[in-house]
Amino acid sequence: MLGLVQGVGFRPFVHRLASTLRLAGFVRNHDGCVNIEVEGAAADVEAFVEALGNGPALARVLQVLQTEIPVLGETGFVILPSTGVPAGPILLPPDIAPCEACLAELFDPGDRRHRHPFLNCTDCGPRFTVVRALPYDRATTTMDRFPMCAACQREYDDPGDRRFHAQPTACPACGPQLRGVDPGGAPVPVADALAWAARTLKAGQVLAIKGVGGYHLACDARNQAAVARLRQGKQRDAKPFAVMVADLTMAERLAEVGPEARELLASPIRPIVLLPARDGMGLAPDVAPGLDLAGLMLPSSPLHHLLFRELENVPLVMTSGNMSDAPMVHLDDEAVTKLGPLVDGLLIHDREIHVPLDDSVVRVIAKKPVPVRRARGLAPGPIALPVPCRRPTLAVGGHLKATFALGRDAHALLSSPLGDLDGLETWQAYERALAHHEQLFGFTADQVVHDLHPDYATTRYARASGKPCLAVQHHHAHMASCMADNGLNEPVIGVVFDGAGLGPDGTFWGGEFLVGDCRSFRRAGHLRTVPMPGGAVREPWRMALAHLADAGVGCKAFEGRLPGEDRRRLAIASARAPLTSSAGRLFDAVAALAGVCGRVSFEAQAAMALEALATRAGECTPYPTTVEGGPEGITLDTRPCIRQVASEVDRDLPPEAIAARFHAGLAAGISQVCAHLRASTGLSTVVLSGGVFLNAILTEQLVGHLSAEGFRVYWHHQVPPGDGGLALGQLAIAAAGQEA
Ligand code: ZN
Ligand code: ZN
Ligand code: FE
Repeated sequence: MLGLVQGVGFRPFVHRLASTLRLAGFVRNHDGCVNIEVEGAAADVEAFVEALGNGPALARVLQVLQTEIPVLGETGFVILPSTGVPAGPILLPPDIAPCEACLAELFDPGDRRHRHPFLNCTDCGPRFTVVRALPYDRATTTMDRFPMCAACQREYDDPGDRRFHAQPTACPACGPQLRGVDPGGAPVPVADALAWAARTLKAGQVLAIKGVGGYHLACDARNQAAVARLRQGKQRDAKPFAVMVADLTMAERLAEVGPEARELLASPIRPIVLLPARDGMGLAPDVAPGLDLAGLMLPSSPLHHLLFRELENVPLVMTSGNMSDAPMVHLDDEAVTKLGPLVDGLLIHDREIHVPLDDSVVRVIAKKPVPVRRARGLAPGPIALPVPCRRPTLAVGGHLKATFALGRDAHALLSSPLGDLDGLETWQAYERALAHHEQLFGFTADQVVHDLHPDYATTRYARASGKPCLAVQHHHAHMASCMADNGLNEPVIGVVFDGAGLGPDGTFWGGEFLVGDCRSFRRAGHLRTVPMPGGAVREPWRMALAHLADAGVGCKAFEGRLPGEDRRRLAIASARAPLTSSAGRLFDAVAALAGVCGRVSFEAQAAMALEALATRAGECTPYPTTVEGGPEGITLDTRPCIRQVASEVDRDLPPEAIAARFHAGLAAGISQVCAHLRASTGLSTVVLSGGVFLNAILTEQLVGHLSAEGFRVYWHHQVPPGDGGLALGQLAIAAAGQEA
């Protein structure tokens, strides 16, 4: 039997089932599968097989293989030790928030695990972050240094117990210990580290707190001075901070929580959910400057639950303990050296984190969850491939939010995003994570897939691997990613809007209409290309000037805001600027014209601010765009839109209205291009991919238009639409090419 059956209480479930049906035999983990032998009355065996699919909440059975064997005349049913080497596509469950039963014990003064921050059972607890090797047994986890006490051992050995073979099980007598340390790493002389941490946070100080997948930096989210200090320390000028709240009631006080978001917040994955913030509910302005979105999450570990019991109604900023985009700090000595200077103390424990894993981030778009960051609770997951990989294949992903994928047979395992690969530190984290996944899953690639861009660190890595390589165009990979995400294996229209990716013609693409499937594609249309001056990614005003020049108009109000020096430097730079069809840069240009963002500290900042503005406006008339056919395909000409933006900025129209009309115009223009492509190709399936489709307004309007016109529209729900999902598409393309 194949599937997500290790570490989810599957063997105990099988044991109970067999015992109920009075069947004899055994169950064991073997070569990455669960191996079961049963004997008994034919009807009982049949009932047994049927019931296997109704296993524990976290289990996922992918395949059941059955053979008849001679009757051995056995009595009793046993769980045997794990055997074999991990050769198949072994799947490990992710880290799961404490279950109801464990929470009840946590707050029961009569329970022996009362207030024990490390309790867990077969239904919950750490998994992927503590596993060193497979098969999944206590000896292969970072809990191996905590020998179980007699009481824990009894539970662990008892098939009727909730903790039967719960590998990370612990209690106050035998488990890890919590301690407070000062910024220099010296112990804080307190009896109760939890109470100390709560006191410190309530006093407006900043703490580093060791969570499930790494360290968070935490402070009172209502305290502007504390939040500003944290922001300064992290050198993260504008990215929003996530906020952890005690429960759903508190989440609803801070943000508008729809039914889908409610379910996501409370799910055992416990992701950060991006939600429309309620005004004036007391979060410090520096939590998410300029945005109407709040990233909220509920406690994801017993430690968090205990902390909130002490804090009562204080919401906590809980941002990854790292510098800018580096991976989350997860080692204790590193926490002291790197985070110590930013905090007033650290809440540390001695359960080692083997694999750092950031919090997952999800947004609800058109009533469905869309991953923004697929990490704790989700990665590395198994994702079904529409076409199986005949050869074990490694897809190395792109350059930003770099994520790799391992493909073998019918499934892909997708790593969490490991950061932007500009620095040595992030590259080392990428290589370490890759080596760990390969070792853990017994994976050796026969083929390596990479982006067409020759200068990505991942491309260079692939080419240096000495293995057969396949280069895949960036936007084709995005399109294939959305197809794989939705299990599609048919020709589609791919609308791929992002920042930039190298096209086969040597220019930077980013507003693309592709037609094809995983085997091949053609560029059937694109946004009008404009020169992209150097430095435009960090300074959207440069893109605004490029678009104004292209549209042949000026915009006095906007130009008046620019220092003259900027204009002169730009004139020199744009003389040799390469052309781009980037949708991300179009958003930048409009945001800069509308006066939203002159300079940004991260790529999507201007677009996010523009979306926030559009959310505040109501119904509006879309700006015009024109669709032009040509021998090279269709061009979606945005000049009419830019001209209107410029004149309305000059007439001092509110930026909210401009932002809303821009979104509506782009959605209308994209639907028009899709209609043209349906007419010329007969295709009526559209996939939406690329980071721009994290924009809820654009996506929802487009889904609305296209559905109304009879298209089948797909967007992402298993992997992010941005570059964090790229590797899945690379893999799907490689798999299609491996078919006979
Ligand atoms: Zn539990
Ligand atoms: Zn114990
Ligand atoms: Fe991209």
